[in-house]
Order: sequence, then C-alpha cells, then structure tokens
Amino acid sequence: MSAYQSPISPGRSWYEDSCGLRPTYPALNGDKNADVVIIGGGFCGLSAALHLAQAGTNVVVLEAHRFGDGASGRNGGQMGSGQRADVMKLEKEIGFERSRALWDMAEDAKKSLLSTAENHGFGCDYQMGQLTPMHKERFDAEAREEVEHLSKNYDYDAISFLEREEMTEALGSSHYYGGTRDTGTGHIHPMKYLIGLASAAAKAGAQLFEQSPAVDVKRGSQFEIKTTCGTVRADRVLLALNGHHNDLRPELASHVMPIQSFIGATIPLPEDSPILPNKEAVDDSRFVVRYFRKSKDNRLLFGGREAYGKSTPGDIERAIRKQITEIYPELTNTEITHAWGGNVAITMPRMPYVRELEPGLWNAGGFSGHGVMMSNYSGRMIAEHFLGNSDQINHLKELDIPSFPGGSLFRNPLKILALTWYAMLDRV
Ligand SMILES: Cc1cc2nc3c(=O)[nH]c(=O)nc-3n(C[C@H](O)[C@H](O)[C@H](O)COP(=O)(O)OP(=O)(O)OC[C@H]3O[C@@H](n4cnc5c(N)ncnc54)[C@H](O)[C@@H]3O)c2cc1C
Repeated sequence: MSAYQSPISPGRSWYEDSCGLRPTYPALNGDKNADVVIIGGGFCGLSAALHLAQAGTNVVVLEAHRFGDGASGRNGGQMGSGQRADVMKLEKEIGFERSRALWDMAEDAKKSLLSTAENHGFGCDYQMGQLTPMHKERFDAEAREEVEHLSKNYDYDAISFLEREEMTEALGSSHYYGGTRDTGTGHIHPMKYLIGLASAAAKAGAQLFEQSPAVDVKRGSQFEIKTTCGTVRADRVLLALNGHHNDLRPELASHVMPIQSFIGATIPLPEDSPILPNKEAVDDSRFVVRYFRKSKDNRLLFGGREAYGKSTPGDIERAIRKQITEIYPELTNTEITHAWGGNVAITMPRMPYVRELEPGLWNAGGFSGHGVMMSNYSGRMIAEHFLGNSDQINHLKELDIPSFPGGSLFRNPLKILALTWYAMLDRV
C-alpha cells in the first residue's frame, strides 16, 4: 500500500491503495521545443496528449504534482449519459438541434472512453449500470417524462423508469421513491484509468513531466511556457487545469469555480449483502447529489458531503457516515477505511468552459461533476481540432458560460451563499 498523499486534494483515497503500481514520471529538466504543450495531467490533458502523440505530434505534458492528484484520480467514477445539464434544460436554452448534438457527443465520449482502455490494453474495472433514484415523490413524474423523451427524441432506449418497489430492490434500500435505470453507461476505477491513459500516451511518444508546475504562459513568435524547472516553446497550448488555476490565467476564475466534494470507502461488504446487488452506480436527485456504488471488492464508495470554502472540513467521515446511515441503517457501525476529497470545478450552467482564449491557446475545464467522460473526450476533441480532423469541439466552445456574479471580491461569498441555499432545499 502506498501512503502517498496528493498535495492538492485532501485525504488518502481508496483508489490510491487499490490501483496497483502508480508509475512516476520525471520533472522537466531544462528547455524544450514542442508542437503542443499541455498544462495539467488529468483526464483532459492526458487524453489530448495520447491522441496527438498517436498522430505523430511532438507533445509535452506539464503536471504540477503527479498525474491523478487532481479530480481525475479521485472522483466517483460514474460515467453517466448525456451532459451534466439535462436535455430538457438544454433544449430550452439552446434548442433541440444543439442539445441533440451534445447528447450524441456524450454517446461518442462513452464509446471513446471504453475503447481507449480496450485498444491500449489497460483495465479500469468497468461495471455497467446506473440508477438515479428520486428523493422526493413528486420528481417521479419528471423521471418518467425524461425516459419517454430520450426514447422518442434521442433514440436512447437504454434508460427505463423503475417503480418504487423495483428501485428498493435495485438499491437494497427503501429510502427513495422511483427513478431511472440506465444500462447504457456505468462506472470505472478512475485512478486505474488515469494510470493506463498516461502510460498509453507515453508509449505513443508524448513527453510526460510531473512535478513541473507552469508559472507563466507568454506569446512571442511562439508560446513560451515557463515552469519552475525549465521552459518549453510551442505553437499551441492546451490549459487542462480544471479548477486549479494557480493564477496562470486569472480570467478563468470568473467562469470556473472550485467546490470540494468528498467520498468515503467502507470495508468490503459481505458477498451476499442486499445492497446494490447488481453493482450499479447511483446518483440521486438531490441538488447536492449523493453518489455511490460498490467497488470490485464490494466496498461501498459513498460521496455526498460538499464544501464551498477553501478549507477542508474536519467532519468528512462523520458526515459521510450520517448520509450512508440514512440510506442503509444497517451500516451504522461499518468501518470507513478511507475518506478523501477533491476539487469539482463548476460553471454557472454546469457545462464545461471550453474556449480558444487567444489564437492557439485553448482552455478546457469546469466539467461540473460530469468530467469522467467529458474531460477525456474534450481532450480528444481538442486534439482532433489541432490535427485538422474534426471541429466537434465547437459544440462546447459555442456554449454561453457566463461569469459568476460578484466580481473577484464577492464571487466566492456569493457562490457559498447560493450553493448553501440550494443544499438546504434538498432537506425541505
Ligand atoms: C470527489 C469528486 C467526485 C467526482 N465524481 C465524478 C463522477 O462520479 N463522475 C464524473 O463524471 N465526474 C466526477 N467528478 C469530476 C471529474 O473528476 C472531473 O470533471 C475531471 O476529472 C476533470 O478532469 P481534468 O483533467 O479537467 O482535471 P484534473 O483531473 O483536476 O486535472 C487538472 C490537473 O492540472 C494540474 N495543474 C493545475 N495547475 C497547474 C500548473 N500551473 N502547471 C501544471 N499543472 C497544473 C493539477 O495538478 C491537476 O492534476 C468528481 C470530482 C471529484 C473531485
């Protein structure tokens, strides 16, 4: 077991202790030239690097800490379907055609995620199935409507409505009402995926550097990226920083804001436990979503405690135990072996902030709790755009992602106020 602790994310994750060997990569040492520099080694950056390197591009990845120390190595592992914003909301805002294009993009993202692992021969403990149970009875009608709408207008028939009794059986708990079952998606071990992705990118020829924080990006005849251990010059740059901006581009902070989300892992549950008998993932209908699933070795991995300020709350394990107990009272005294968290970068409309900030300098971040598929796929789409193969990324680039209100002074307190208000509505 490794005792490594990410310097940017609190708590040692169970993923860290179950991912097998986590290779290290060298720090940049001196100056380099490249076609493309990617700053940030999470799913987004590494996926872009893999697809660029496969096409013969000279690509350098700079990671401030270790690959997977950000959200990509520590998340809930749930892929979901579609975008973080649901199709009904998207249709109202951007119309059916664009909403459908974003749905199709997410379907491509699912296929791309799984085929990348398969083609490069790395395992990620993929398990099919996702349940979305309703915590208020009146939401059942909306869930039914969504199922019908997806079947009729999006040709998506992998989702079905479960009555309360069926949901109770699927969850092993009567805590919820009805809800949906989606057999067209599933969940993965994110750190195993991240390790496999980094290794595939390195094998394809990408130059990967850890412990190499970028401290400045300047444009001359080329981009010049200064790190604490050398400088890289390149024609194009991708910022794949998620919510960790490090003041590299302060203007990003008004569109993408960090919130913290926390997960706990129990000891392995007995094989015959009635909890999640089909090992489906769960994300419920609350504003502060409770998301949980069983690991390959039968632990309950449970997320749902959030924090909106900068400091790490001292009650992560207690808060998670309380939430688990509400749903599974029989687990009141079950040991929680790991509790950890990370930075979920959110935007106002909960859709990613993908922009060409200036010619040749791209940003992709703010995947708002839906980045397992979409950060991976955004990296790939940006790579395809750089290679001149596809402009699918424009569907994200054209989305209106307004600034958080309040300017640099009041943005954070306003965010805390608004999110706390919505979290309170969950309980009413
Ligand atoms: C607890 C938690 C649970 C989640 N659950 C889910 C889920 O179930 N399903 C889902 O779809 N999404 C989930 N998410 C969100 C998902 O993990 C993210 O959207 C996704 O991993 C973002 O990937 P990324 O590559 O953009 O960012 P990250 O993985 O955060 O990578 C960004 C990297 O940039 C590096 N960096 C920052 N600044 C610099 C710099 N100056 N120089 C060099 N490197 C730098 C950081 O060190 C970091 O490694 C969850 C997130 C968290 C935290």
